[in-house]
Amino acid sequence: MSRLGRIANRLRRASNESFWVEQTDQIEGDPMQAAAFPDGNKVKVTTGLVNRLTDDELAYVIGHEIAHLEGGHAARLERTHDAGLSIAKASVRAVDRALERSGVGMGGRIVGALTSAVITGAAAGLGSLKQSRDLEREADDRGQEISSSAGYDPEAAASAIAKIDGGLNDPGLIQKLTSTHPSSCERYLNLSGKSH
Ligand SMILES: [Zn+2]
Repeated sequence: MSRLGRIANRLRRASNESFWVEQTDQIEGDPMQAAAFPDGNKVKVTTGLVNRLTDDELAYVIGHEIAHLEGGHAARLERTHDAGLSIAKASVRAVDRALERSGVGMGGRIVGALTSAVITGAAAGLGSLKQSRDLEREADDRGQEISSSAGYDPEAAASAIAKIDGGLNDPGLIQKLTSTHPSSCERYLNLSGKSH
């Protein structure tokens, strides 16, 4: 059996979820990535990650993805996102009606509606950004629990994240800081603080 298959088997006994682990070249163009796919209950891990991480680190990363599946995180995030979008739409309509009543000309109306849509849209986006960070933390905690109850070293969580997110020289860092995942520093502190 492959190394990945052996780790998956140990983790399977420590989790409530029946899941499949698949190795792949890249996930959305990223050769150093792991992700959970609720469709088919799959965890995908790239070959680059399998080659660079120790067994303990790999167990934590897969545990983190299993936690996303266990918690139904993808569906929860989608619901928040949809709610955010309908709030944005409702507010554009409200502004539109108010401006119509007050007799502002066409140009003013469009600018007013657009500004409001942009602001509300950004607020809705921030709402799901915050929720996705909360879910990441939840997956970090539960992932660590799953991997350590399968007998892997819980301290490997911090080094796994450091390897995945890379150092400060990583050109993608700015992008990572503004993306939905919490920054590596934040997660690193969160996890290393817990394990000491
Ligand atoms: Zn995650």
